[in-house]
Amino acid sequence: MRLRNVKGSREAIAANEFVIHNEEEAKGGWNRIFGNTNPIHIEIGMGKGQFIMELAKTNPNINYIGIEKFSSVLIRAIEKQEEEQLPNLRFIRMDAENIENVFDNAEVDYIYLNFSDPWPKDRHAKRRLTSSQFLKRYVNILSKNGGLTFKTDNRALFDFSLEQVKLSGWKLINVTYDLHHSPFCEGNIMTEYEKRFSDMGNPICRMVCTP
Ligand code: SAM
Repeated sequence: MRLRNVKGSREAIAANEFVIHNEEEAKGGWNRIFGNTNPIHIEIGMGKGQFIMELAKTNPNINYIGIEKFSSVLIRAIEKQEEEQLPNLRFIRMDAENIENVFDNAEVDYIYLNFSDPWPKDRHAKRRLTSSQFLKRYVNILSKNGGLTFKTDNRALFDFSLEQVKLSGWKLINVTYDLHHSPFCEGNIMTEYEKRFSDMGNPICRMVCTP
């Protein structure tokens, strides 16, 4: 994601009704924010929000929360949501490292990770959103039947993630190294990065797993 500073994005985010501002105060009370007890699905590192917005439109009985670290990226998702006004979609600007301060035990039903930053240096491995450190955090917020889907075109990151999932005792439900030419492709919603990389001819890897 290109991180050009977008002038005024912080101020626009601070004033936006679809962004949850004191997210730690929402812990344990997300149902109240949405005004219903529908399941909660989150996307961590959602970028400009194309994927989560499509999901929210397709599944009005699921509540979606898009998490993004950078204001300059989040602002693009907010602009789209201002047009769409989807009642089942909210955003948080935060670093996912603090995710356990924002969601209570079992408060989240599903996690999506799409084209997460690879952090290629070994010494940064624990920053990868599929590292065992992150998986441990996810276990604490996922509901009993909760799960996670991860897509990337980065084979090294995918192999690392498979290893971490196994080491952490998670169960792999399915794995593909070429999603777009696999039976799992039906109903697939493309992310912005997925479109870009598959247009370049890169195969897309995807895993579905549960704690
Ligand atoms: N998911 C989008 C897609 O597939 O098109 C964007 C992918 S982009 C490569 C990764 C995004 O994750 C960036 O917008 C980045 O700011 C965000 N990100 C990376 N680490 C994060 C973290 N620890 N917490 C929240 N967002 C994060």
